Amino acid sequence: SSLVAFNHVGKIYNTGTIALKDVHFGIKEGEFISFLGPSGCGKSTALRMVAGLEDATTGSVLVDGKEPKRVIRESNDIAFVFQEANLLPWRTVQENVILPLELRGGSAKEHKAEALRVLEMVGLKDYVKAYPRQLSGGMKMRVSIARALAARPKLLLMDEPFAALDEITRQTLQMELLDIWQREKMTVLFVTHNVFEAVLLSSQIAVMSARPGRLSALIDVELPYP
Ligand code: ADP
Ligand code: ADP
Repeated sequence: SSLVAFNHVGKIYNTGTIALKDVHFGIKEGEFISFLGPSGCGKSTALRMVAGLEDATTGSVLVDGKEPKRVIRESNDIAFVFQEANLLPWRTVQENVILPLELRGGSAKEHKAEALRVLEMVGLKDYVKAYPRQLSGGMKMRVSIARALAARPKLLLMDEPFAALDEITRQTLQMELLDIWQREKMTVLFVTHNVFEAVLLSSQIAVMSARPGRLSALIDVELPYP
């Protein structure tokens, strides 16, 4: 059975743009799946639906058999990483990471321990007291990823998270993300227009066509490592 199900999903924006047309497929738990296709083919729209940020015009998107909005209201199972790190400049690295945990209750001590766990995972445990302006673009993205991981989501949604980074930093973060995915055993939905990135990272690739917003192929990628 699928963790994420697209059931004949269609999306027409109120401008009249058809973003998705009859997208129908399931994503199993534990996959790293990339949505790959040219700009405007509906990748972000598809991801935002899984995040409960956009409603389907026809059909439905379900996570664990439930509406994404409900999953988000009732659990920490879905986390989102955008292209911009979106950190609060007046909060330290640790305080930024703790933010989503604060909204869910628990003690300050637990929050700090959890923040340390995820900041160590992204190699930033020495930066807990630093402020965003003191960090490079790659480090800010690491904080953003740590913040998403802090709530131990089942499902990590990433919309072109490395697009704004330089080539070397991007490659480093790609390797780190693969490592985290393998250790944490979560499901990752990753939007990219970069074929190389999709092949490098994914266990599956959902290829989308721009005519308009259709799923044109679902490809299993043979991983070069166990
Ligand atoms: P991608 O992520 O593949 O670049 P998007 O999902 O962002 O594609 O967009 C798919 C299509 O829907 C594009 O034609 C885009 O211009 C349009 N679109 C995206 N968001 C909106 C919106 N909020 N309102 C109207 N049209 C939109
Ligand atoms: P991407 O290609 O990375 O999805 P875009 O530049 O297409 O990003 O879109 C950026 C933002 O603008 C998104 O929030 C999207 O919903 C919105 N948007 C995109 N196309 C349109 C459109 N035609 N009308 C209104 N909003 C749009």
